[in-house]
Amino acid sequence: MSYESVNPYDGTVLQTFEEMTDGQLESALATAAACFEIWNKKSYGERAVIVARAAVLMRERSEEFARPVTLEMGKLITQARGEVELSADIIDYYAKNAETFLGPEALHPTTGEAEIQNAAFGVLFGVEPWNFPYYQLARFAAPNLMAGNVVIVKHAGCVPQCAIAFEKLWLDAGAPAGAYTNLLISYDQVNRVIDDPRIKGIALTGSVEAGKAVAARAGLNLKKSTMELGGSDAFIVLEDADLDKTVEWAVWAKMNNTGQCCVAAKRFIVVEELADRFLDKFQTALAKLKPGNPMDVATTLGPLSTEAALIKLLAQVKQAVEKGAKLVMGGKRLNRPGAFMEPTILSHITPDNPAFRDEFFGPVALFFRVKDENEAIALANDSEFGLGGSIFTRDVHRGKRLASHINTGMVFINHPTWTTPDLPFGGIKNSGYGRELSSMGIQEFVNKKLVRTASIDAPA
Ligand code: NAP
Repeated sequence: MSYESVNPYDGTVLQTFEEMTDGQLESALATAAACFEIWNKKSYGERAVIVARAAVLMRERSEEFARPVTLEMGKLITQARGEVELSADIIDYYAKNAETFLGPEALHPTTGEAEIQNAAFGVLFGVEPWNFPYYQLARFAAPNLMAGNVVIVKHAGCVPQCAIAFEKLWLDAGAPAGAYTNLLISYDQVNRVIDDPRIKGIALTGSVEAGKAVAARAGLNLKKSTMELGGSDAFIVLEDADLDKTVEWAVWAKMNNTGQCCVAAKRFIVVEELADRFLDKFQTALAKLKPGNPMDVATTLGPLSTEAALIKLLAQVKQAVEKGAKLVMGGKRLNRPGAFMEPTILSHITPDNPAFRDEFFGPVALFFRVKDENEAIALANDSEFGLGGSIFTRDVHRGKRLASHINTGMVFINHPTWTTPDLPFGGIKNSGYGRELSSMGIQEFVNKKLVRTASIDAPA
């Protein structure tokens, strides 16, 4: 494992970074632990000044933040700018609302008084993925810093420049050293950080494999964890959907971030009556995407994050076809430098095909045709994942009724699964546990402390 910036557009190695020594790691942990004692004693108002300033700086330096995203993991530059804006929105949201979310909650016992106070845990450890190099950090850091916790983060190996830029942001905003710490560390060191008694909670966003490893280690230490893991979201199209608009959303749902979203639509489940027309229009729209330099605003098909990601995806497609799937379009790498893959659609995926259960992290759509809404729901639920999903129908009541039968953490009607600061984000089953964002995300790493006042003369 290493920390290396490589431009996936052309394979250029931009910069490599040394991992921290054990001595440097110890010093970072000690600084964070000492910082907690100061940070936690500040008022919400004092913390909010610094946190809100971080949002202002992100917006002011939008280009400075967006460019390394595009350079390190190939996100289209307009989407990188959008991610910077969204991250700033999340930071602002918690600066404004944390005190309301965490204010004491009065209880109404039969006698005397009682309330729930929210107390910070301490130093938290985040392990984060490359696909949204700032948004993932913002949704962990902002609520927890406002709650009075301090955070240390191990970011993904391929986005070290983004990781370092985000750490600098907090120092520039006036946060004390140790409030937000970026760690360039090995997996062994990750385990030691989890074991360290100064660490009080662990949040991971990433693959199921990483989630199992880190959650198991946290469990051994009896430490609370949240897991935001993979997904295989269903994109259900009912026969009464507005076909043209649905296809536009299908392209966005599949191709945003070149398909590398946990909540990207991965399984397109279309009712028979519309299936042929949907497939035809979807294919035509995907074929129009224009590959090129992700720094160029005219490009609509960027590279995957790394060469390794491309190789893994190509192998998954090959295996799917060997096991009986039909290639409707694409399936190959583009004949040009860089980690580019053709937009791909697979159909005829039977339950015994590994593709039926696997997560395809990139521009690969799995297409299923079903008889009716009941079959659509049954197929959507036939997955080990349970992150998001969407239903397209002109009948919103029907959409809501079906949403109640879908076993995931999030269901969107007439929109692909997506995220805003004020909506909770997270899944069930192999997609993990816990929630980030909204009023819920800030509750994960606080001690819900009961404070009870009783009459000294009350009976035992
Ligand atoms: P990943 O390989 O699991 O990596 C995520 C993070 O975990 C990285 O920092 C990685 O470090 C670290 N890591 C991996 N294995 C580890 C281990 N055994 N011990 C300690 N640390 C470990 O995932 P990814 O490829 O970066 O991201 C894609 C996955 O994340 C997809 O499955 C996607 O669906 C999921 N995701 C989920 C959400 C959500 O909110 N549910 C959001 C975004 C992404 P290195 O980079 O150094 O290996």
